[in-house]
Amino acid sequence: MVVLLLVIHAAVPKVASPKPVARGQAQSKHLKSKTRKHRRVSWVFFRSPLKGSRESLLRQNLKIDSENLERIADSEQLQSLVQENALVSLPETRYIAVSSKLPQDRRYCRPRTRIFLEEFGEDHYRRFGRSLTVTSAVRTVDFQKTLQRRNKNAASESGELASPHLTGATVDVGKRGMSPQQLKWVRNYLLEMQSSGFIDVEEEFRQSVFHVTVYKDYELARVAPATVAPTPVETAAPNPDHNASERAHDASETPPL
Ligand SMILES: [Zn+2]
Repeated sequence: MVVLLLVIHAAVPKVASPKPVARGQAQSKHLKSKTRKHRRVSWVFFRSPLKGSRESLLRQNLKIDSENLERIADSEQLQSLVQENALVSLPETRYIAVSSKLPQDRRYCRPRTRIFLEEFGEDHYRRFGRSLTVTSAVRTVDFQKTLQRRNKNAASESGELASPHLTGATVDVGKRGMSPQQLKWVRNYLLEMQSSGFIDVEEEFRQSVFHVTVYKDYELARVAPATVAPTPVETAAPNPDHNASERAHDASETPPL
């Protein structure tokens, strides 16, 4: 009998004996451990099929390179691209809103991205009667360098893991305030577009946005839907190694935009 009791004791994890603590302190500790527990549970049970990955970021840069899209150096180049209509204003309609925190001089994107936003926003509005909010769009290399000085984890302004926002083809769409039904619908919508090779999307959690890079094929398919087939691309798969992507994305944005 004594042996049995000893075995049971050895098998049970050691728990620190409770120490007398003040009431407030005890409540605060309890709340903290509850929050940590909740966070862990949500990570264990939900992994978005659109979760960002290093591979996705590499693919975005490769595809952008194949389309010969330049990375925009500074505000002067940005303005000349606006003059040439290579960059256009973000749509601001009943379907699409722009975050008030996004500066006026960065409220631009590529024409194909605008077309995508208009159609995405209208389809979403017809289903839910609410607009989508763009929280970030084009950025310049100058702006990216400023971020790098502020944040040691900031993404490079060049190279294979540079921020796709530097091209103007990418926008972030905010998730804040979306219902579970909306989130589900948006994930399915974007996943289908990605599987067709029209966009690449990364669902971010620290900033609560969908990061969407729109490719030329999307625009071409709208002009001649019967004749243009999307360029096949590798479909993004859930990847636990998403740190590079999320870090690059996080660092390349002023939090929260
Ligand atoms: Zn982004």
